Amino acid sequence: AWRAAAGSRTVLLAAPRSFCAGVERAIEIVRRVLATAGPPVYVRRQIVHNAHVVAELERDGAVFVEELNAVPDGATVVFSAHGVSPAVRAEAAERGLDVVDATCPLVAKVHVEATRFATRGDTVLLIGHAGHDEVEGTLGEAPQSTILVEDVEAVPHIEVPDPRRVSYLTQTTLAVDETAEIVDALRARFPEMRGPASEDICYATTNRQQALAAVAADADLVLVVGSANSSNSVRLVEVAERGGTPARLIEDADAIDPAWLAGTSVIGLTAGASAPPPLVDGVVSALRALGEVTVVERETARETVEFALPLGLRSGSADG
Ligand code: SF4
Repeated sequence: AWRAAAGSRTVLLAAPRSFCAGVERAIEIVRRVLATAGPPVYVRRQIVHNAHVVAELERDGAVFVEELNAVPDGATVVFSAHGVSPAVRAEAAERGLDVVDATCPLVAKVHVEATRFATRGDTVLLIGHAGHDEVEGTLGEAPQSTILVEDVEAVPHIEVPDPRRVSYLTQTTLAVDETAEIVDALRARFPEMRGPASEDICYATTNRQQALAAVAADADLVLVVGSANSSNSVRLVEVAERGGTPARLIEDADAIDPAWLAGTSVIGLTAGASAPPPLVDGVVSALRALGEVTVVERETARETVEFALPLGLRSGSADG
């Protein structure tokens, strides 16, 4: 019944999609610091991995830097949602920088686990992608005791001091199916391996993957709104492709190549956790400009998660 008449298209909209609680909080933190301290407000790394979010905050006076050496003495600096290593915290303290921490509480949880596991004498096997901001931060908690595991192929080559004293952790934005496979392979090699008390892959990542899988199965093509450096967005593309549906990652509606749409009647649409909701509306409008479109939303979970702002930023409102 949801399939539109011949000559028109159906857009199956995955829900949940787009912003998660950690991203909303991080963006709100920068807005409030801009409103209270005034620009410029320095932000170490992209506050969240989305080009539109970064450009908008830049227009309002945020200055994004790679490292703290680009932040003037005494300035205010925001740490991004992906978290930082203890070395970065120490450097900021030494420099006397005024730090506002936008690390997602679910990333902070993984940092606490890394410290706890390393302190009890375990080698920590961190499943994640090299070079990602979040992985850099988590690795920094116990660099001597942590080994990064990027894929299942790496598992046979891992060398640990004591195979009975091993724990694993994961990046928050991995593919649920792929990660389960890696954990199984690790457990086969290290039967006494221990893990986190609760899943490190966050609720938002899990929900977006499940929602997308539910629409991708019925779609001829999947469009994922998100930036190329957004881990959870790239995973959404992979989840669709592993399920047999071609998928494209698009920054926004302008990135749609009409040639992709040839012969398609059902398009699955979602957005990564760092992609603003209006970009999804923009994609629907762009598809409407190419022909008749019926939008059908499929909701597989309802999200009610909200994270409190840091204490100092709770009162007052930003003019955004
Ligand atoms: Fe936090 Fe998950 Fe959102 Fe990352 S994707 S900011 S871990 S809620």
